[in-house]
Amino acid sequence: MASIALDSSVSTNMVTLPILQQINASERTAPAQVPTSAGAVGTSPGVGGHSPTVESGPSAEFLAEIAQASERLESATPWEILQWTVDRFGAGFSVATAFGAEGMLIIHWLAKIAPKTKIFNLDTGYQFAETLAMVDRVRVRYGIEIELVRPELTVIQYEQLHGGPVYSHAPDQCCKDRKLVPLRKRLQGVTAWASAIRRDQTPDRAVSPIVGWDRKFGLVKVSPLANWTKSLVWKTILDENVPYNPLHDQGYPSVGCAPCTRCVLAGEDERSGRWAGAKKTECGLHSND
Ligand code: SF4
Repeated sequence: MASIALDSSVSTNMVTLPILQQINASERTAPAQVPTSAGAVGTSPGVGGHSPTVESGPSAEFLAEIAQASERLESATPWEILQWTVDRFGAGFSVATAFGAEGMLIIHWLAKIAPKTKIFNLDTGYQFAETLAMVDRVRVRYGIEIELVRPELTVIQYEQLHGGPVYSHAPDQCCKDRKLVPLRKRLQGVTAWASAIRRDQTPDRAVSPIVGWDRKFGLVKVSPLANWTKSLVWKTILDENVPYNPLHDQGYPSVGCAPCTRCVLAGEDERSGRWAGAKKTECGLHSND
């Protein structure tokens, strides 16, 4: 595991480390394009079958390229992985964040590497006030504006339509309506996105590549923290004074929507407070179904 050396005073030049030097120069400067199996070059894979790229799928050559990159980047640091992603996909790269500890590190590094990267939050209408307050804290600390992506219906309209909260009896439907549908819409035109998942969090996440083709959303998915541990994440946050959701100090290691998140007791798994008592463990963004 690489040691952490990137503090707030380090220039972005420092992220150009040996692993990046192994990457072909033309690859690093290539525009955000996804060659399709039909032979066309799509700059906008999009989602939901709305683009030629998704209908025909990425080309075998492109899939081989990202598989090779993923293998090379297994030994890279998260900021090297982010640097590669920015170099490879440029403005086609976007980040979704729920302001979790890992997500705050991604914002922290991108503020140095590529502060113009588009970062958004899926604002379901059910998030904790402490979570929403992170929008201002990120703006103040990094000068980065987080886009809030919302469903078409407000919480009031949604609950009126369904006769009350949907999360209480059909959380999968609620996550689909409040997270997945807005996400699909937001990802149209996006070529690559980053997730803040770690492999040691859940069985689904355990098989996440560093770089892979996200079939669910039809774009490249990069997981720069896949190899990291919770302790390394928190060491870096504290060492580099990264802002974090205060709920983490109140017994919430993983923070989702308020109605579906509870405190975790001593000895419990860090994600056991999410949809506690239900079989559900993922909102659907990072599951392999
Ligand atoms: S986490 Fe809960 S409240 Fe949030 S979208 Fe999913 S089911 Fe709805």
